[in-house]
Amino acid sequence: MIQNSQDLFKRAQRVIPGGVNSPVRAFRAVGGNPIFMASAKGPYLYDEDNNQYLDFINSWGPMILGHACENVEKAVQDALGNSFSFGAPTRREVEMAELIISMVPSVEKVRMVNSGTEATMSAVRVARGYTGKDKIIKFEGCYHGHGDSFLISAGSGAITLGVPDSPGVTKGVAQDTITVPYNNLEAVKIALEANKGQVAAIILEPVVGNMGLVPPVRGFLPGLRDLCDQEGIVLIFDEVMTGFRLAKGGAQELYNVMPDLTTLGKIIGGGLPVGAYGGRKEIMDCVAPAGPVYQAGTLSGNPIAMAAGYAMLTYLNEHPEVYPYLDNLTSKMVEGMRENLTQLNLDYTINQVGSMFSIFFTSDPVTDFDSAKQSDLALFGQYFNSMLRQGIYLAPSQFETLFVSIALTDKLADQYIAANLAALHEIHQLA
Ligand SMILES: *Cc1c(COP(=O)(O)O)cnc(C)c1O
Repeated sequence: MIQNSQDLFKRAQRVIPGGVNSPVRAFRAVGGNPIFMASAKGPYLYDEDNNQYLDFINSWGPMILGHACENVEKAVQDALGNSFSFGAPTRREVEMAELIISMVPSVEKVRMVNSGTEATMSAVRVARGYTGKDKIIKFEGCYHGHGDSFLISAGSGAITLGVPDSPGVTKGVAQDTITVPYNNLEAVKIALEANKGQVAAIILEPVVGNMGLVPPVRGFLPGLRDLCDQEGIVLIFDEVMTGFRLAKGGAQELYNVMPDLTTLGKIIGGGLPVGAYGGRKEIMDCVAPAGPVYQAGTLSGNPIAMAAGYAMLTYLNEHPEVYPYLDNLTSKMVEGMRENLTQLNLDYTINQVGSMFSIFFTSDPVTDFDSAKQSDLALFGQYFNSMLRQGIYLAPSQFETLFVSIALTDKLADQYIAANLAALHEIHQLA
């Protein structure tokens, strides 16, 4: 029964564009209507009709400790008694900045904002202000929020200028964004050669979660670091997804490659709307009021959000065993899925880094957006719906990663593997 969800979606469509406040929630890529959630605890979501789901989205990453975890809940409750916002500096902001800097290796100074989108928009502005150059290089299939500069597709060939990906993004903005294929250093070199002395920043997801999970190939991240050093370009790791997830210091710690600027979001707010950008002192001191690059926020560093984020990060900082636990549990599920595929004589690609993983319905390796797009999307839609019927809530798009939380147990991982087998059976009518 999903009657209440259906009714709410009807009402929502009358008053909210597409019935949702963020497009992927609408289930358009998989068919069917979105499910409206009422509550969540640990590994489970509960919808408006009281159905239970085992959650592999975890609010798109933030709920790495499971839903409604007690330490974050308590921190928010404690903070609530002191009013919700002051518009003046607070102790929590200092403590939060100190904690972030102690955890993320390349960050020496940090500015809090309210979303990942704000973090990436601001980081690019700072990189431009710092270098005095206008253009940025981004990678096809990487998502950096909905800032105009990022909603740009590749033109024809690596050396051409970008084209707007969305109405409302001007050609003028598109001119300053160069889009190249992920994991392709050669394409970056060609783009740099064609735009000599004009590139302020290279921005990327050091591990991509936004075309499904795609890891960097060996040498890609160090190669970008070298190119940026040679050309005086600011290297920005967008760790909105990977920060505090792949290691307490994010992908930069895992791969031991240091960016100049890092953008953070998702986990950093413990489920409340928080983002941050930070990096080398010299660059961050360009930000107002220390420097001339303007960036501000009425609710930035909000005390309730800081309390949640601080509790979340403190837990991760003090419990390093979280990461091997998540890695092992995710590896177990991936192994189980691989055995399922072998048993059914199927050959699909599974990518995993730490507690992020994706199955692509193609037998070819997935290393960039073109190869990700080889996945059979109709099959993915059937797979998604079969899992949903079994009470497993996956991301409703092939081009999203799944996230594991510490609320997931060995037994629940077995349940996931069994559901995966049943879903693969069903979509191939092998049952
Ligand atoms: C989610 C995400 C963003 C955007 O963050 P919002 O909080 O949704 O604005 C930016 N970059 C990456 C890598 C993300 O995964």
